[in-house]
Amino acid sequence: MFKAFLIDNHDGNMSGAVTELEESRLPQEALEISVEYSTLNYKDGMVINGLGRMVRSYPHIPGVDLAGSVSATSDARFQVGDRVVVTGWRVGESFWGGYATKARVNPDFAIKLPESLSCIHAMALGTAGLTAMLAAMALESAGVDKASPHPLLVTGAAGGVGTIAILALAKLGYHVAASTGRLEETEYLMGLGAKSVIARSEFAEPIGRPLESERFSGAIDNVGGNTLARIIAQLAPNASVASVGMAGGSVFTASVLPFILRGVNLIGIDSVSCPNELRLGAWNRLADLVPFADLEPLTAVYSLEDLPFLANEILAGKIRGRVVIDLHS
Ligand code: NDP
Repeated sequence: MFKAFLIDNHDGNMSGAVTELEESRLPQEALEISVEYSTLNYKDGMVINGLGRMVRSYPHIPGVDLAGSVSATSDARFQVGDRVVVTGWRVGESFWGGYATKARVNPDFAIKLPESLSCIHAMALGTAGLTAMLAAMALESAGVDKASPHPLLVTGAAGGVGTIAILALAKLGYHVAASTGRLEETEYLMGLGAKSVIARSEFAEPIGRPLESERFSGAIDNVGGNTLARIIAQLAPNASVASVGMAGGSVFTASVLPFILRGVNLIGIDSVSCPNELRLGAWNRLADLVPFADLEPLTAVYSLEDLPFLANEILAGKIRGRVVIDLHS
């Protein structure tokens, strides 16, 4: 038997409860993992509340990421006892996910954890950390100008991706500006390494002039909608924005003028199906750059029973930093 947070959908009425299941209920996949930790992400909040049509069949086990050790495998790339991390690949959406003490996944979805990353460290970073690092690496490749007089902006700053993006970018030597709807979190954001904090409302209005004053040397945007359009209009020439999320809307309202007259770049970040080689590179860099000691004070640990409450909190934008789910608490 294994323990899981199982959700069901009866004609749009969602239910979710912690329950014991027979292991025979697990899918027939070649990699079985004894899960130690998972995390809470915006997408998990949507799945638990039946939003977004990401789940194809019910009952379902959510949880878009997990870390643990291999308990059985028929895949020669892994051995029993290997510590692995699984993120994306539609785990927790099309496939049963990390909110269970046991998971069976396609071995192609798993990455052996670097020696220096414990399971709790990996999940304190989680999908949010991986995504933040992929965004930072994309900006590096696009050539952000560290000597620019303009800061590098992170929006949705107090959330999971925002928190780790600020930590990592500050350590990489960037001058980071954080944008938040929660100005009461200014001290928290400065503590992460942000040099200035900008109110979310500054980017909320629809775009007026297609080009605004140059303000940013680059950006990681978790918000989308008008915010993304306004950032694009405020980028310095040849600067790039890494578009990660759409917590504030998915409609693209930008003008083409910043692309044509300032040569700015819009880079989409996809942590769900990006190649494993790139993921491994990102995990290795995170292991070095963001030690667990830095993350521990920003990470709250909860149990499966807390998920219904947490799902509503993250959709309401009330979660600060990282939320780890301990499968054995
Ligand atoms: P969180 O919920 O932890 O953070 C999102 C932050 O966005 C909130 O903390 C809040 O920041 C801000 N926000 C929330 N609601 C609104 C709103 N209505 N308008 C403007 N800002 C808002 O989520 P994550 O950090 O885990 O994820 C951020 C986004 O990135 C989500 O949209 C998520 O789906 C997406 N994502 C994308 C991935 C990819 O591969 N592209 C991978 C992981 C996540 P504040 O209070 O500071 O303003």
